[in-house]
Amino acid sequence: MTILHWHYPTEIMVGEGISQQLPDYCLSNGIQRPLIVTDPYLAQTATLTSLLQHCQRDELSAAIFSDISGNPTGRQVELGIDACIKRHHDGIIAVGGGSSMDAAKAIALVARQAQDLWAFEDIGDNWRQANPEDILPVIALPTTAGTGSEVGRAAVITNEETKVKKIIFHPQMLPQQVFLDPMLTLNLPPDLTAATGMDALSHNLEAFCSPNYHPMAESIALEGIRLCQLYLPISHADGSNLQARTQMLIASTMGATAFQKGLGAMHALAHSLGARYNKHHGLLNAILMPYVLCANQRYLNEKMTRLGRYLNLKQPDFMGVLNWILHLRETLNIPNTLADIGLDNSEIELIGMMSQQDAAAASNPIHLTAEQYETIYQHALDGTLDL
Ligand SMILES: [Zn+2]
Repeated sequence: MTILHWHYPTEIMVGEGISQQLPDYCLSNGIQRPLIVTDPYLAQTATLTSLLQHCQRDELSAAIFSDISGNPTGRQVELGIDACIKRHHDGIIAVGGGSSMDAAKAIALVARQAQDLWAFEDIGDNWRQANPEDILPVIALPTTAGTGSEVGRAAVITNEETKVKKIIFHPQMLPQQVFLDPMLTLNLPPDLTAATGMDALSHNLEAFCSPNYHPMAESIALEGIRLCQLYLPISHADGSNLQARTQMLIASTMGATAFQKGLGAMHALAHSLGARYNKHHGLLNAILMPYVLCANQRYLNEKMTRLGRYLNLKQPDFMGVLNWILHLRETLNIPNTLADIGLDNSEIELIGMMSQQDAAAASNPIHLTAEQYETIYQHALDGTLDL
């Protein structure tokens, strides 16, 4: 019999104001000098100021590192490691979206190791080189509902020299505690709520479509898609709706839990385009979604019927799901084409090649050649739905 290897996420606490339990959690888990890793925008908000103050009481002595951009780079991780070593931090608090979260997890992994970041690229058993006792614990507080990086064991870091996104992996990069506090997502503007929410949807959807056998992940993906169907339009239209914000945080952790079953061509292309053009990851997935579904259509008919029924669509089949997604994108003001966000086909061959080699390509419903990735990219530039 085939050996199967499944993982389930970590301890998760959900609720309004739950992040206020952070200082007590640190203290009761032996973390006294946490480094809060976040982005420069969040670092200046009242939320972060208050969080820092809470983590500077009793025996707690926290500091902030915020030199993180969207699509974090190896250089930024190195700067975070320097900060971590200089002040002898003994734990990492990741606060932010996927970029801060991924950078934080990479800093926690590498800060005390002899090897550099790239030694832990997700190839073979590279991760076994790390000394597990020297990996710092990570506590995660997502402020967007999208990547679900708070329940993941990997980080996507761009190598700025090669302009390629690398996946850094270690099982202990999984945060040991997650606080899903909708209060932290209230400030997210509608465009970012839409783009990050579509990333959560793309994780659930690609995991559902992946041909790999993982019935638990498949069920999580189905329900994750349903939560996005119900709550993404509400959190976009009314960012102060705490129930919708909470449900989207949950849909986001479900997406990242489900995608251990695999991702697919949306992410293969989004990774390549993100690395070359530094565009928002969720927005790229949102735009690519219908074009990739069309490219995979022949292999998805049974699954789309099942999904359409679960979502209670009037037309429970491939076309019904496609139309629902097109309508959802419109509701969220997502541009229809990649040309609308300034991309062109000047690097189309390179994008095709990079996408075919991307780790996410392996779990697409069918193997796509570099030329087929080029075709999908061209369709996403032109707005051609190839049915
Ligand atoms: Zn994603």
